[in-house]
Amino acid sequence: MTSIIHYNQIVQIEKMNLQKGMNYRCNPNYSVLLMSTRDGAPFEDEIAADGRVLIYEGHNIYKQYTDRDPYTVNQPRQTPKGSLTDNGKFEKAALGFKNNEREAEIVRVYEKIKDGIWSFNGIFKLVDAYEKSIDERTVFKFILLLTDEEIDELKEDIEIKEHARLIPSKVKAEVWKRDKGQCVQCSSKDHLHFDHILPYSKGGTSIDSKNIQLLCARHNLSKSDKII
Ligand SMILES: [Zn+2]
Repeated sequence: MTSIIHYNQIVQIEKMNLQKGMNYRCNPNYSVLLMSTRDGAPFEDEIAADGRVLIYEGHNIYKQYTDRDPYTVNQPRQTPKGSLTDNGKFEKAALGFKNNEREAEIVRVYEKIKDGIWSFNGIFKLVDAYEKSIDERTVFKFILLLTDEEIDELKEDIEIKEHARLIPSKVKAEVWKRDKGQCVQCSSKDHLHFDHILPYSKGGTSIDSKNIQLLCARHNLSKSDKII
C-alpha cells in the first residue's frame, strides 16, 4: 500500500518546502527524493520489476549556470564554486556505502500523482550511484532499495501499516482516475491509500490496475484485519 497525501502534509511532515527533487539530509537523519515517472515527466525515474528497486535520475544543471538548454548539459557533480551539488552528495553517500565506509543513507521517497496529490512510496536505502551517457550527455543514476526495517514514526495521520510496495505511476494514475480520487467503499477522500486487492505478500501484482484500488484509512485497516 502506498499512502496518498496532499502536498501540504509533506511540507508539514518534513518541516520544509520541497522545491527540488533531491534533498540531501534535509533532516538530520535522512534525505528526501521526489519522483515522477509519468509520461512527460522531466526525469527518467524507474521502478524495477520486483517493485523494490528504484532507479532515480539526478538533477540537471541550474539555468543560471549555463547558456544552453540544461537538458543538453552533463548533470553536475559540483557547483561552479566547487561545492557538491545534490548529485555529488548523493553519489558520495552511495559510493561510501558501497565501499563499506558508512551505513546506507536513508531516503524517504514521495511521488507526484497529479498536482497537489502525492504518494509516500516508502523508506529506501541508497546503495549505488553511477553516471550514464544518454543523448550525448551524462546523467547520474542512483539505486535505492526499499527497506525491510521498521519504519520510524510518521505523523499519526499518515500511519504506514505495511511497507509500501511500489506501484508504477502509470497504474496509480489509472486507478486514481477510475476510482475518482475516492475510497471505493465509502467515497471518502481522506487518508487514501493505493490498496492491493490481492495483497502483494500473497502474490498480488502491483503492475495491473485491476489489482489496485483506492481505500480510505478506515476501510484499508478493516481489510488488513481480515487478511491477518
Ligand atoms: Zn472508505
